[in-house]
Amino acid sequence: MNELARMDVKYLKGVGPARADLLAKQLDIHSYYDLLYYFPFRYIDRRTIYHIADMEGDMPYIQLKGRFVTFTPHGEGARRRLNGLFSDGTGTIEIVWFNHTRQIIESIHTGVDYIIFGRPSLFNGHYSIAHPEIEVFKPDAPRQGLRGIYNVTEVLRNRSFTSRTIQRLEETLLASLKTVTDILPPEIIVKNHFISLDEALRSIHCPADVQILQKAQLRLKFDELFYLQLNILKYTKARSKRLNGFLFAHVGTHFNDFFYHVLPFPLTGAQKRVIKEIRGDMGSGRQMNRLLQGDVGSGKTMVALMSMLIAIDNGYQACIMAPTEILATQHYENISVEAAKVGVAVALLTGSTSKKKREIIHAGLVDGSIGILIGTHAVIEDNVQFRNLGLVVIDEQHRFGVAQRAKLWQKNVNPPHVLVMTATPIPRTLAMTVYGDLDVSVIDELPPGRKPVQTLLRYDNHRERVYRFIGSQLALGRQIYIVYPLIEENEKLDLKNLTDGYDLVCQTFPSYTVTMVHGKMKPAEKDAHMQLFVSGKAQIMVATTVIEVGVNVPNASVMIIENAERFGLSQLHQLRGRVGRGADQSYCILMSSPKITKDTRHRLEVMTETNDGFIIAEEDLKLRGPGDMEGTQQSGIAFSLHIANIATDGQILQLARDTAAEIIDSDPDLSLPSHRILSEHLKFLFKRQVNWSLIS
Ligand code: ADP
Ligand code: MG
Repeated sequence: MNELARMDVKYLKGVGPARADLLAKQLDIHSYYDLLYYFPFRYIDRRTIYHIADMEGDMPYIQLKGRFVTFTPHGEGARRRLNGLFSDGTGTIEIVWFNHTRQIIESIHTGVDYIIFGRPSLFNGHYSIAHPEIEVFKPDAPRQGLRGIYNVTEVLRNRSFTSRTIQRLEETLLASLKTVTDILPPEIIVKNHFISLDEALRSIHCPADVQILQKAQLRLKFDELFYLQLNILKYTKARSKRLNGFLFAHVGTHFNDFFYHVLPFPLTGAQKRVIKEIRGDMGSGRQMNRLLQGDVGSGKTMVALMSMLIAIDNGYQACIMAPTEILATQHYENISVEAAKVGVAVALLTGSTSKKKREIIHAGLVDGSIGILIGTHAVIEDNVQFRNLGLVVIDEQHRFGVAQRAKLWQKNVNPPHVLVMTATPIPRTLAMTVYGDLDVSVIDELPPGRKPVQTLLRYDNHRERVYRFIGSQLALGRQIYIVYPLIEENEKLDLKNLTDGYDLVCQTFPSYTVTMVHGKMKPAEKDAHMQLFVSGKAQIMVATTVIEVGVNVPNASVMIIENAERFGLSQLHQLRGRVGRGADQSYCILMSSPKITKDTRHRLEVMTETNDGFIIAEEDLKLRGPGDMEGTQQSGIAFSLHIANIATDGQILQLARDTAAEIIDSDPDLSLPSHRILSEHLKFLFKRQVNWSLIS
């Protein structure tokens, strides 16, 4: 592989400097290796020949067999084009060329059978194909089964650099290569009945049939996922050996007092289990890196607080970091009251903490009089120093960048224990890949007495009925959220939508108080309006997504989401989590334009069908692909997957994970001679990449 990566693609026959430049700029292909690993994104069956008479609707790439009947040149100079009429006996279709027209007339003849291959486009009820591939039909030539279609950019296409061009380059490259050296040890290949890498690479570009193509895909997907897992696990193992954590040997008076005398409700079974898991980690002498997943409202805050009390019992400080000021403030309000009852001092540090207060807090952290610090990213600023920071809790993890998390490690001699909490459930497959070195705990149980939120999809023309429903809920004394989307490209329009909505709601419900909250407000103003709603003085809150995280108003029973079609699934789920926090039946109404695509309708229907955050996250992953999932961008996961897809290749991922784990368990440094192949290829794959698994 090293050799292939060192061979500049410009030396391949048929490439040369100009094309090499195009390949590099357009497709990021620089070397033989890059070209070899540039795979088709789909295949067409070369044995199927279409009939023109059967063509209907939007057509994929097809093959036709027939003869050219006439050629008609049009236009002059740059606007010159050539039309050919092609007939296969069942009908005729127009073929168009925009350049090289003279060569075409000279090389293609009427009265000869051709196979043409291309994608028909429909215009004014007539099909035509521009720049098809053309071959003379040879009745006895064996027809290759499948042909790969490669992605090419518009720029490439304009220079007659097509999928077929790439195919030819791949063929040239494969013909020039001796057997490609395998990158898996024979045991793994034999055990899983894989084909060799050489065969897989040849078959992925030029598959003889569907069976061999599937074997090639399996093999290459496995390779990708396996090396990804091997990298993660190798690092995790190394770190768990190296990084000693603070030993929280016992549970003391703070925790016990709290548990027996302060705790306002019995913990759910899931909360108890998770606290036990965390205790186990922190008492192990190793540094904890745990991801706590729990749906909105599942009671993660209490788990965080009790974990922090264990830190304090052992002479350490703890800190909790939230993504927004509102959320940090709400944590502070809840936690400081509870913690005070067991004599623990809590401080709040955010961007808007005054300089004077800030100095007092800094001093309290250094002398240890503050036990728990709560804040936004302000807590990771360089001048914030602790006397003895032992545990860091990160709430709503996906909003923190990797670099920010890494900064926390520098707050004490040894890295503190880290508990990452998220209400956006991460599908197992993705968690395995992105957070492969985190241990995962799940709160899969809501506190008792909660009724699942009923979710309905309503189109804009039913607004009156929706408003009547709001009226009936208001009459019962409930509160209502109405949320508008934010499209950042046009803030003015957003604000107008919001204020129009606000005006309409005020007119419709004149006897109730309506507040409005949006991101353009000053923090103090925003808080004041929010407070009106929290205290119950206002019954309706019209807002943008600023309320997505944080606000906890148990009396609010209806969440109306306007233009729901503009939101992603995870975001809708988060918003819905704002209601259903009290004992009353709650409702979430998704308002949408009736003009939506099938995909969008499907997305909204997922919401109406389930309240399960994990199912929603899986769907989200399928619909959007891993590249768009929150958390994947910063983790760099998108970097290396050419062929595997974490959304759909879960089984292969599991196999890759298990195989990698077995190897790392028996040989953590990959130092056995039989594993040299692995350590070398790992080095090859990851030397150019930032090692994102270093930071969890
Ligand atoms: P999230 O997991 O979304 O952060 P919170 O920690 O904000 O959820 O908890 C949601 C609500 O449930 C809070 O009002 C909290 O006091 C309450 N709660 C948490 N645990 C329990 C429990 N075991 N029994 C009853 N209520 C609970
Ligand atoms: Mg929370």
